Amino acid sequence: MDKTILALHQVSKVFFGEDVETHAISNINLEIERGDYVAITGPSGSGKSTLLSILGLLDDITSGSYRIQDIETSTLDADTQAELRNLHIGFVFQSFNLLDGLTVFDNVALPLQYREPALATDEIERRVMGALKQVEMSHRAKHKPNQLSGGQQQRVAIARALAGEPSILLVDEPTGNLDSKNGDAVMALLGELNRQGTTICMVTHDIRYAGYAKRQIQLLDGVQVSSSVAKRDSCTAEVV
Ligand code: ADP
Ligand code: MG
Repeated sequence: MDKTILALHQVSKVFFGEDVETHAISNINLEIERGDYVAITGPSGSGKSTLLSILGLLDDITSGSYRIQDIETSTLDADTQAELRNLHIGFVFQSFNLLDGLTVFDNVALPLQYREPALATDEIERRVMGALKQVEMSHRAKHKPNQLSGGQQQRVAIARALAGEPSILLVDEPTGNLDSKNGDAVMALLGELNRQGTTICMVTHDIRYAGYAKRQIQLLDGVQVSSSVAKRDSCTAEVV
């Protein structure tokens, strides 16, 4: 199979307001291969979240080309885009987006229960428990999100994305709502998942954490100003 999972070519996104046009990202080129770990960095307002939303098929592009495993996505209808998103994308939101009324297990299981074609109950259970094990949260399966620390909630959000067995994990500001200890632990977890084979694209405005990725692309006012490859291997810190 093709090593390239995602490929953006000259992608721009313009938000059209009443009397302003915001050029959120302009002429971005980016290819992500299997096993890659990319950090998208840049100051607030530079277009990081817009770029990640486009990669996650949560937002459409104004111009350019976006291919997922050689399928041009920009001309697909919404249902076909949703299918492609379910199949390939695991999205982790900065605010976790867990449902307080559901247990950890049910939060992770929820997106799987809406899969077409439907997954068998024991397949859902296998995937949920497997994903919780990967993030070391199996022992919290019966807890509710509000009984967990922020770092633990972030790990459950990562498990929910992993349970879909996506081609790539897209992570927006994984440390944005965490103190430095929990932030370090979540970054160590992402590094470990990448070493085990998970392809990751992460947004961060924190230069220190960007160094955990294998390579970085830097945005300024929606334009790619530089890209670099990490000198050392990605993070080797312990998961705590
Ligand atoms: P970052 O994540 O780097 O902080 P964003 O991608 O959120 O940046 O925003 C990039 C630019 O696009 C900003 O000027 C922001 O105000 C604008 N923007 C983002 N989302 C929208 C939207 N839904 N409507 C209008 N403007 C938007
Ligand atoms: Mg953002």
